[in-house]
Amino acid sequence: MPTSRRSLLIAFLTLPLIAARTRAFAQAGPELPLTPECRDGDEFTLEREAGPFFKPNSPRNRELQADAIGGDRMTVAGFVLDKRCRPLAGSLVEIWHADENGHYDSVGFRLRGHQFTDAQGRWWFNTIVPARYPGRTRHFHFKVQRPGGRVLTTQLYFPGEPGNAGDGLFHETLLLDMKQTGDGRFGRFDFVV
Ligand code: FE
Repeated sequence: MPTSRRSLLIAFLTLPLIAARTRAFAQAGPELPLTPECRDGDEFTLEREAGPFFKPNSPRNRELQADAIGGDRMTVAGFVLDKRCRPLAGSLVEIWHADENGHYDSVGFRLRGHQFTDAQGRWWFNTIVPARYPGRTRHFHFKVQRPGGRVLTTQLYFPGEPGNAGDGLFHETLLLDMKQTGDGRFGRFDFVV
C-alpha cells in the first residue's frame, strides 16, 4: 500500500523526542529535548534573497493546496531549531511560492501563508509543488523568525532538479529531504536560526 502524505505527516508529528541523546554542548541549555535528526555542529540555515514576489500580511494558514487545484500535492514540514538543536516553539514560519504554472499571486494571497511552530518547534504546510519559472530552479520561499529574533529569509530546493546546478541561488544545504507518496510528495527541512 503506498504511503500517503498524511501518514508521513502523522509519523513526523508523533516522532519521539529523544532526550537521551543529549550532547555535551546542549547540557547547559534549557530542558528541551533534542530532535532525533540533530547533528553536531549544525550551522545556521543559509540566507537567500526574498526576490521580487514577497508580499507582507499573508494569512495565518497552513492549508494552501486549495489555492491551486491543478497542482501536484505536497506536504512540507520540519522543525525550527536553535544552534544547539533545541526546538523553538512559537517561531514564525512563512511560505510563499509559485503556482503550478510558475506564477506568483501578486493580487491576493494564493500560495502564501504563515504559522507559528507548536510546542515541539514543528511546522508544516499542505500545498503544491511549485513550477519552475524562467531563470530559476524549482523552489519555495520562506521567512523564519524565532520569538524575539531576527528574520531569516531563505529558499528551499528540490533534489534531482536539472535546474539546480545552473541556478546561482541554489545551495545543497537548502535541499528538502523528499519522499514520494501515493498522493504526492513529502518534503522535510529543519531551519536552524
Ligand atoms: Fe521565487
